[in-house]
Amino acid sequence: MKNTYKVNNPATGEFISEIEMNTKEEINLALKKGHNAFRKWSQVNAHERSDLLKKWMDNIQAHKAEIAELMTRENGKPIKESLGEVDYASSYIAWYAEEAKRTYGRTIPSHNESKRIVVTKQPVGLVAAITPWNFPAAMMTRKAAPALAAGCTFIVKPAEDTPLTTIRLIELAHEVGIPVDAIQYVIGEGKEIGEIFTNSEFVRKITFTGSTPVGKTLLKNSSDTIKHVTMELGGHAPLIIAEDADLDFAVSQTIASKFRNAGQTCVCANRILVHENVMDEFANKLTTEVTKLKVGNGLEEGVDIGPIINEKGYTKIIAQVNDAISKGAEVLVGNEYNANHQINTYFVYPTVLKNVQLDMKITQEETFGPVAPLISFKELEEAIEIANSTPYGLAAYFFTNNYKTGIFLHERLNFGIVGWNDGAPSAAHVPFGGMKESGLGREGGTEGIEPYLETKYLSIGDL
Ligand code: ADP
Repeated sequence: MKNTYKVNNPATGEFISEIEMNTKEEINLALKKGHNAFRKWSQVNAHERSDLLKKWMDNIQAHKAEIAELMTRENGKPIKESLGEVDYASSYIAWYAEEAKRTYGRTIPSHNESKRIVVTKQPVGLVAAITPWNFPAAMMTRKAAPALAAGCTFIVKPAEDTPLTTIRLIELAHEVGIPVDAIQYVIGEGKEIGEIFTNSEFVRKITFTGSTPVGKTLLKNSSDTIKHVTMELGGHAPLIIAEDADLDFAVSQTIASKFRNAGQTCVCANRILVHENVMDEFANKLTTEVTKLKVGNGLEEGVDIGPIINEKGYTKIIAQVNDAISKGAEVLVGNEYNANHQINTYFVYPTVLKNVQLDMKITQEETFGPVAPLISFKELEEAIEIANSTPYGLAAYFFTNNYKTGIFLHERLNFGIVGWNDGAPSAAHVPFGGMKESGLGREGGTEGIEPYLETKYLSIGDL
């Protein structure tokens, strides 16, 4: 008998589906098939690969409502966010369908008349991906699209909480004629499949989105076979409100950054640093807007904040809030969740905390929940020091209409993604990724296909 796991709706606790886990033998067979399919897929010309990717995108768009509903049921995010994610996921396929035709090489002037020097790009081979539950569609297409565009074959292990969206998207790829062995999924437990992927001689690249500790394990385990790696890991984003910021605009962008997906994104503002002269005004305006956010089942009309994905995530958020309160933080809104907690569902009411200090857990650990901690600062230097005082370096945001302050902050913040008066900078055509322990490599943009390509140098002599 095969092992299985259950997928439940985090908003209701309702059972959705029971999924069979693949055995070790099946996973190894899938890797072998992916490896064997590589030669043929990489030889399909780039324009044909591009056309197939576009057909995949069209097929996803034709099933947009169905996929969005599935995503909300397994992940909990509001349906409007799921519909937005289907578009966002599709945009990566659209972008890389075009980039497939632009994996240019170059020629280099020779130092010798009898030689010619040519540089070409070729796909790395079979790519194995491990994806998280917070963006079940987009984190997969952001990896699969550049891999397939480059001519690589692809296999993914989706997160245990949200495998259904991935399975459906891959079925839709097969429907339009992308070969079944060129894009595959396997189902199982993260640690076990991570070890099979990293140990496999067939896998030439590992691409991972998830927590920093798991990323470190995958990096270490990839070293035995020197695999290519792309790591999109944790974040602890600072969001700085300068004294001159347009506070109404900054509040709307802070909400977009902090409360999307109930605060469960790696680029969510995690430490909101506010100049002391505007702290009270900003805190009041933010609290007024946060109070309007509607919490509930993401399938219901008008819901802004869905449930936390599971008990582990919920417990971590509550522990951070209680730790902050015990050390003197003031709750401006929120914190009714303990009273409202129901069995098997984990809602956290949007919370704003004031008087947050640097010794609180919430200023050290990634929160992954709808809690906005406000920290006061006097000088920009102090804000920069606090912002950079973390092992993470994924996203940072600041709000100022003074160009000197803006350039100064941009140059001093050690983060891979910076939003200046922008709380939502992510897009398919831009390079997304982190510095320090937030990761290695970039996804999206022209940078995002490079990690799927090898550079090959040819020297032609005796001419
Ligand atoms: P989170 O705590 O947000 O779930 P994880 O990094 O644990 O973040 O999970 C992201 C993905 O990594 C999921 O698909 C999960 O199954 C997988 N995963 C978890 N542990 C490991 C591991 N040791 N090796 C490889 N993948 C793992």
